[in-house]
Amino acid sequence: MYAHVLSERVKALSGENAFQVLAAANKLEAKGKRVIHFEIGEPDFPTPRHIVEAGKKALDDGQTKYCPSQGLPVLREAIVEYTAKYKGITARPEEVVVAPGGKPIIFYTICALVNPGDEVLYPNPGFPTYESVIKYAGGVPVPLVLEEKNGFRLQVEELKAKITPKTRLLIINSPSNPTGGLLTEADLREIAAAVIKANIFVLSDEVYSRISFAGSPTSIASLPDMKDRTVILDGFSKTWCMTGWRLGYGIMPPELAQKETLLLNNSSSCTPPFIQTAGLAALKGPQDSTEMMVKEFIRRRDVIVDGLNAIPGVHCLKPDGAFYVFPSVSGTGIPSAEIASYLLNECGIALLDGAAFGASGTGFLRLSYATSLPLINEGLEKIAAGMKAMRSKR
Ligand code: PLP
Repeated sequence: MYAHVLSERVKALSGENAFQVLAAANKLEAKGKRVIHFEIGEPDFPTPRHIVEAGKKALDDGQTKYCPSQGLPVLREAIVEYTAKYKGITARPEEVVVAPGGKPIIFYTICALVNPGDEVLYPNPGFPTYESVIKYAGGVPVPLVLEEKNGFRLQVEELKAKITPKTRLLIINSPSNPTGGLLTEADLREIAAAVIKANIFVLSDEVYSRISFAGSPTSIASLPDMKDRTVILDGFSKTWCMTGWRLGYGIMPPELAQKETLLLNNSSSCTPPFIQTAGLAALKGPQDSTEMMVKEFIRRRDVIVDGLNAIPGVHCLKPDGAFYVFPSVSGTGIPSAEIASYLLNECGIALLDGAAFGASGTGFLRLSYATSLPLINEGLEKIAAGMKAMRSKR
């Protein structure tokens, strides 16, 4: 009805399917149905106590007013220190933009760098916001296909073949949502060489960088000549279980940081200062909660991978990071969308059709194992029973 008043830009946007499935699951729950949640990508652990206390104290101390758009200087200093420690990168506070979540940095970066008609290379399957915002900016999304047979790592030969004079930006995400795949240091070196040769920019989405089961992942920005052409995106949601606080940041060349700050200034004015103070406590405080969470994710990953592989027609790789598995269900002969819908409505299992992460995700499901082991075990039993029932009906 309003189609004629809406801009073409806004019509190009699409949302994250995880939120739609969560809403559908909540609706079933409101009707009294029990649902096990594998759909939403957030740790099930509480935000560590010292972080909550720091946020509360900041409120009591009156940090309830506007503050600098680029972020509190003390937090930007702390991000610089943290980045040196965990990524081995020397940055400066003027290169840091603090935002209400990591997601806005995706939005700002694409809006700041992509003109209509510019091509952007991005992982497919990948985090849905990339393709949506590329289209919003009038850019041309050019998918880099992540295949199970390659451990869901992007293939540098494909990357090189898809670079054209119109290519403006490459988006990488390691460890990856939705596959849990990890790029190796050798991959990153080859990617860096291709990017430097073609003179393009990189958005390196590192929001899962601390949730890696194969050692500390390398940031592409730490490789020679890469920092000046990279936006590092990181945040607090996953590392410190702070999804609802909305706090993230980007590290980028200062000229770009000024433009991204303008985008933030024009949309949100600033990130709430008491939230930033809680983030400061996360960066500076004890890191044991993150380390314990990662150990627990490894246990859960092993259980869910084995459980899924025991189901006929399902094949699941063991991921090296994040808290997702991305099993192939093409061996069942049943479309992944049909399986996802049946499991939710008939079995009370909320998970996502892989196609929600791009066309190359068709034939896969995505499950977040950021839920307790007893629920994972119960969920696996229900998934196995549900898929058996589906097969027998065909
Ligand atoms: N990037 C990836 C790959 C994600 O999976 C997410 C959240 O799920 C984000 C960015 C955004 O996280 P946030 O805005 O909560 O920091």
